[in-house]
Amino acid sequence: MWIDTHCHTKYSYDNWLEPVDLIRRAKALGIDAVCITEHYSYEASEPVEQVGRDEGLLVLRGVEIATDRGHLLAYGVEDDGWNIWGRDNYLPLHEVIAHINTLGGICVPAHPFREVGLACLLEDLLDIEGLAGVESHNGNNSDGDNELALRAAEMMDLPTLGGSDCHKTAAVGRCATRFTRPVTCMADFIAAVRARECSGFYFPGYLQAQPVQTSLAKPIPAPTCHAGPDPASSAARAMNCGSGPQ
Ligand SMILES: [Zn+2]
Ligand SMILES: [Zn+2]
Repeated sequence: MWIDTHCHTKYSYDNWLEPVDLIRRAKALGIDAVCITEHYSYEASEPVEQVGRDEGLLVLRGVEIATDRGHLLAYGVEDDGWNIWGRDNYLPLHEVIAHINTLGGICVPAHPFREVGLACLLEDLLDIEGLAGVESHNGNNSDGDNELALRAAEMMDLPTLGGSDCHKTAAVGRCATRFTRPVTCMADFIAAVRARECSGFYFPGYLQAQPVQTSLAKPIPAPTCHAGPDPASSAARAMNCGSGPQ
C-alpha cells in the first residue's frame, strides 16, 4: 500500500491547503493513506482525522520539527509533550532524537540534503544515531538531492520513506512510501518502518493525474470574443466563438 508520509495542511500555518482538498487529491491519485506532519505540532493536525473519516481515507499524524541541523520527521508521538523546549526554532537535533525515541516514536530526517536556512545535514548525516529511516524521496526536492538521500540511506543501511511535503493541492502525492505490509494505524506504521517493510519512491500515479480541482476554486469569468479567448477552452466552445480546433 502507498502512503504519502509527509503532508502539510493549513494547520501548519504556512499555507492555505484545505485538508479536504489534500485528501480528495490523494484518493484520486490512488494513494491509500496520508500522514499529516505539521510544522512543530502534532496536535495541530487533529481536525484532519475527522476529514479523513468523512472522506474515507486513512489519516495518520506525525510532526515535522526544525532542529539545529535540519528538519526532522517524528512519528509516534501522541501529543505535543515531546516539545519540552517550547516552540523555538532549531532545537538541538541529538536531544530531539533521543527524546522522541524515549517516548516510543521514530525519527526520520526530512529532505536531508536540501539547504534549510542555516540548517543542513549534508556534512554528517552518516554519523547521526537513533534514526529509523531516511526520507529518500521528497516532493519539494530536486532529483539530485533525493538521489543523495537515497545513497545515504543505503550507506546507513536504513529503510527509506517518500512524501510529497505538500503545501498545496497540486503537490500532493509526487512522492510516497510503498509499504509491503498493511498499515491501519500509527503503531502499524512504526512497526513496518522498523521491520524495513517500506521504501520511498516517486509515486507512479502522480504523473498520470488529472489537473487539480479544489474546493476553493473560483469560477472563471467567461471571456468575451473580443478578449481573445483560448479557442480550445470550454468557455470559448460554449460561446461558439473560437475558430481553432475544438
Ligand atoms: Zn521541512
Ligand atoms: Zn515539510
